[in-house]
Amino acid sequence: MQPRDLSDHVAYEAGRGIEEVARELGRDPSEFIKLASNENPHGPSPAATVAIRETASDVSSYPKAAHADLTTAIASRWNVADEQVWLANGGDGAIDYLHRATLEPSDDILVPRPGFAYYGMSSRFHHGDVREYELSRADDFRQDADVVLDAYDDERVIWLTSPHNPTGSTMPLSEIERLADETDDETLVVVDEAYGEFADRESAIALIEGWDEFDARDDVAVLRTFSKAYGLAGVRLGYAVVPDEWADAYTRVNTPFAASELACRAGLAAIEDEEHVVRTVETTRESRAYMQDTIDAHVWESEGNFVLVDVGDASAVATEMQERGVIVRDCSSFGLPGCIRITCGTEDETERAVDTLNDVLADLDVDAADDPDAEVADP
Ligand SMILES: *Cc1c(COP(=O)(O)O)cnc(C)c1O
Repeated sequence: MQPRDLSDHVAYEAGRGIEEVARELGRDPSEFIKLASNENPHGPSPAATVAIRETASDVSSYPKAAHADLTTAIASRWNVADEQVWLANGGDGAIDYLHRATLEPSDDILVPRPGFAYYGMSSRFHHGDVREYELSRADDFRQDADVVLDAYDDERVIWLTSPHNPTGSTMPLSEIERLADETDDETLVVVDEAYGEFADRESAIALIEGWDEFDARDDVAVLRTFSKAYGLAGVRLGYAVVPDEWADAYTRVNTPFAASELACRAGLAAIEDEEHVVRTVETTRESRAYMQDTIDAHVWESEGNFVLVDVGDASAVATEMQERGVIVRDCSSFGLPGCIRITCGTEDETERAVDTLNDVLADLDVDAADDPDAEVADP
């Protein structure tokens, strides 16, 4: 027998690791830096490392049924009730929970293109379908309510990514509110804020709780993760913040023990270490500005911990940069074959990435000019 028809399902293409690349090229891992997966260049908070070590000898036990202390810490950070925080195995796990809680077979979700592949994958796992709205390159991937409403057709869930991966653009809260107002009462608008810490913007949790000028709503949810600013991508911890009315759905959709004890101990230590996040955000902003100023190609404005660069031929440039020891993300799999995404690194890493990229761009340009078959470039 065979599995069910998986022809619509595509494998997730992750950024590749240093070990894997070094082995494939027959080189020493120490020759490489990796700026391909939007990881924290400072690593995890030292407090999180200690917490993981201290928990190590207890891992023969199942995690606690409810991670009350972590949930409470997150809830009080956002000024929501504990029940509104849905802890999960990474942000990806929270995406699954929101789909479990919403999708009936053949319900549609609406996702951005270019965009994060897992929204669609997860919907398909839950027997849902996927439709797309277009972020226009000509418009610098601008996000507002109309961009989504133009494609909207009563989908059950709309995914917004703000800051957006891989472009770095954001959607203002007033536009998110307008989108939620103008869509059906049964459409959930989810704002994926995986990169929220790096943006100079208020969280869309304001729309759920009704802070400031916003009214509390029951049709918006927000996704957050410990993988990016908190440097805990390897332990898998994320969460959704959901409307008050949704609170008791969690126990019905939660995979037992999906958020591990190690992850929750690390997460609790990490949110208490504000200094580490502040330092990470500072490094990111400096790196972003430096890349913006010094890369010899178009770099889009970004509020994430990465920049998108228009290099012409992403595959050729990414391959050549990797050959020279800098691993970046070819955005072909996001639907942007002309672009690479570079994660903000430490000062040294960022300088090396920019020097390498600029050299590669110059060398590939010379190669193209030397090629008698190449089209004559503009003078
Ligand atoms: C990284 C990322 C996530 C979540 O990643 P996890 O490691 O599963 O927490 C979610 N959305 C976007 C857009 C991301 O880039």
